[in-house]
Amino acid sequence: SAGLTRFESGSGPGRVGRVPVGIGGRRMRIVVTGGAGFVGSHLVDKLIARGDDVIVIDNFFTGRKENLVHLFGNPRFELIRHDVVEPILLEVDQIYHLACPASPVHYKYNPTNVMGTLNMLGLAKRIGARFLLTSTSEVYGDPLEHPQKETYWGNVNPIGERSCYDEGKRTAETLTMDYHRGAGVEVRIARIFNTYGPRMCLDDGRVVSNFVAQAIRKQPLTVYGDGKQTRSFQYVSDLVNGLVALMESEHVGPFNLGNPGEFTMLELAQVVKETIDSSATIEYRPNTADDPHMRKPDISKAKELLNWEPKVSLREGLPLMVNDFRNRILNEDEGKGM
Ligand code: NAD
Ligand code: UDP
Ligand code: UDP
Repeated sequence: SAGLTRFESGSGPGRVGRVPVGIGGRRMRIVVTGGAGFVGSHLVDKLIARGDDVIVIDNFFTGRKENLVHLFGNPRFELIRHDVVEPILLEVDQIYHLACPASPVHYKYNPTNVMGTLNMLGLAKRIGARFLLTSTSEVYGDPLEHPQKETYWGNVNPIGERSCYDEGKRTAETLTMDYHRGAGVEVRIARIFNTYGPRMCLDDGRVVSNFVAQAIRKQPLTVYGDGKQTRSFQYVSDLVNGLVALMESEHVGPFNLGNPGEFTMLELAQVVKETIDSSATIEYRPNTADDPHMRKPDISKAKELLNWEPKVSLREGLPLMVNDFRNRILNEDEGKGM
């Protein structure tokens, strides 16, 4: 790190007298890895609106420039095409580390969780930045405790089809805590439960995006297994508020960030029908291996220490993603791609 100076917030050239100003009047420079993705792009919107300088690092593996195109030309926004598996030198105050092939169809491309997290922790250590890891409820595996508290160690198959994701994130949490304890890096860990909203990948196989796209395309909703497995679905703005609250807090975590409302896949299909097309039909398909039977966050820790809880119910949130999906599906049909 010789020869590289730490970036001082609010004191660099051209950093005086511009509005709006970041949290507490202090404008920060923030990296969001995976910022061209679904969650990342919403987080970037919030940080830019708050008045911070944001650098996105993304290799566009599942992310899209379209998610950020409204920020091109904004002098406080910068987009770098880069794979976090490779080292990078930057000077920033905070690192939100979201880069990760996050959906089942992309799981197998996954040195990102280990190498990418290591590089971002090395970066945080060198420049004294605060680092936030977006971990996942999948670290609980097929849970034997319900609902899941942060103290639960999980029930994960180390050699299964989903293991590169589950175990990759578990390793990422381990690395994060090692850098915290061993190198004094300021870290934060969020365990994110199923999240949905506008800009979700259209065809990555997640249940909400599948059902919504299927209903719009007048195709049957594909329910895997008997459809009695449960998930808890969180609207993306609630998650983004939770991530920022955690980053700005004095607590390392891990914190569950999710909506405790629990639905079976058949109930979800019903809400999608009510929201988009009451005539939609259901088609049963075999379930994937190691599919968790149930999942629901216990969020008392985040409520108490971060003063955070989700505000948007599934019935309120689903309609908010329908227009975005309709437009993208229409564009696809017109041959413009997504
Ligand atoms: P997403 O696929 O939309 O976003 C991930 C982004 O990371 C994409 O833009 C992708 O191009 C980028 N990326 C992937 N590998 C990269 C690499 N090697 N270098 C640089 N960029 C890379 O997924 P998302 O739903 O927005 O997820 C964001 C984060 O939240 C992920 O870490 C994911 O594990 C976590 N998470 C999401 C959910 C959810 O329900 N959406 C649930 C639990 C955890
Ligand atoms: N790293 C990086 N940017 C930095 C500092 C480190 O990408 O500004 C990478 C570095 O290449 C290494 C990883 O982060 O692969 C871990 O760095 P650390 O200094 O902790 O470990 P070391 O290099 O000493 O093994
Ligand atoms: N699922 C489904 N139909 C689909 C896609 C998924 O019934 O078209 C089921 C899947 O088997 C799982 C649940 O929905 O039980 C949630 O799957 P998703 O991949 O969205 O999230 P995760 O399993 O990672 O929680």
